[in-house]
Amino acid sequence: MTDNHTAKKRIVFCDFDGTITVNDNIIAIIKHFNPDGWEKIAEQTISQELTIKDGVGQLFRLLPASMQKEVVDFSISNARIRDGFASFLTYCKEQQIEFYVTSGGIDFFVYPILEPYGIPSDHIYCNGSDFSGGRIEILWPNPCDEHCSNDCGMCKTTIMRRFPADQYERIIIGDSVTDFEGAKLADLVFSRSHLTVKCQELGLPHHEYETFHDIIQYMDAERETAK
Ligand SMILES: [Mg+2]
Ligand SMILES: [Zn+2]
Repeated sequence: MTDNHTAKKRIVFCDFDGTITVNDNIIAIIKHFNPDGWEKIAEQTISQELTIKDGVGQLFRLLPASMQKEVVDFSISNARIRDGFASFLTYCKEQQIEFYVTSGGIDFFVYPILEPYGIPSDHIYCNGSDFSGGRIEILWPNPCDEHCSNDCGMCKTTIMRRFPADQYERIIIGDSVTDFEGAKLADLVFSRSHLTVKCQELGLPHHEYETFHDIIQYMDAERETAK
């Protein structure tokens, strides 16, 4: 009666920057305020000379904490939500699919941008921030566990491991190389952009999406065939 497949609970781990939002918010903020020296740090982060954690930490340290209001206001007003996001959340509710945001973004833009969508705050994982010193300091409340040595900053695989594969059907939605390790753990991968390229290079099964409507359509078709 309790067939293993149907007994598993479906759970979605959804990236934020470049996935829920159309653009990458960290890059947009740094480009907009254009502090001296950001290009070099960005290059070293992309080329993996710096870990994501060190790179992002150093980028924000270029900005004085006194710019809090400008930085927060800009990042919230600049963000655009990808089509179909609200419909996808409704779909997950209807289908009793758990929905988590696993974001390498920062609390001061992730929470306000997601505020209209009613996602419980304990279902949103991202980095923190501290404006009390001279410079903007990024905080890292979700570090890598003993199984990850990438110094991710916000470790997506650490969070996924809390939902074991024998109890959950793990679905990941992402757009960049930072989603790839999570994609390897997942049962179902929705990819765009750099994540698609990486999956193709390494032969990891994936489904390309452009909007959240594409994802609903795929999951619904799959559900129909499973009946
Ligand atoms: Mg992303
Ligand atoms: Zn990690």
